[in-house]
Amino acid sequence: MDLRTLRLRPGEVRRETLEVALEPFVLGGQRYEATPATIPVELEISQASGAMVLDLLLEARLSGACMRCLGFAEVARQVRAREFHDFDAPPADELRSDYVTDEHLDLTAWARDAVALELPDQILCREDCAGLCPVCGKDLNEEPHEHTERTPDPRWAALAELRDEL
Ligand SMILES: [Zn+2]
Ligand SMILES: [Zn+2]
Repeated sequence: MDLRTLRLRPGEVRRETLEVALEPFVLGGQRYEATPATIPVELEISQASGAMVLDLLLEARLSGACMRCLGFAEVARQVRAREFHDFDAPPADELRSDYVTDEHLDLTAWARDAVALELPDQILCREDCAGLCPVCGKDLNEEPHEHTERTPDPRWAALAELRDEL
């Protein structure tokens, strides 16, 4: 998107709905795909004194493996982000957006980073997912159990009986 040609006056607002393709995210070694991969992004551009103000609004849904039980997990987020850009600011100035190169706005990179910032630390099938048993690897959601000496596995009990008989 060419920003320089917009030539907005202070107070003037330009709204655009654009499409952005989100590449899969890799978090904690798992891959999360955006569904759908191409999403509408609302971009609002206005001119404040000294800088262009860019506002982004989008809704992303990612799906992949639950970080605890490896079952299906999905996370949906409404994402808002704001950038400022002054074409006359020196390089590395805080009024120069990282997503603007020359006159071009890299909306794909910005949308992706904005989504990444909103993601939870852990993507889970449900908030209280019990995860997998660290001892036997079974899904504790489907089969809640503990491994303690007080409740021995019946197979071991049978073996112990056999041993006693020998
Ligand atoms: Zn889970
Ligand atoms: Zn177990």
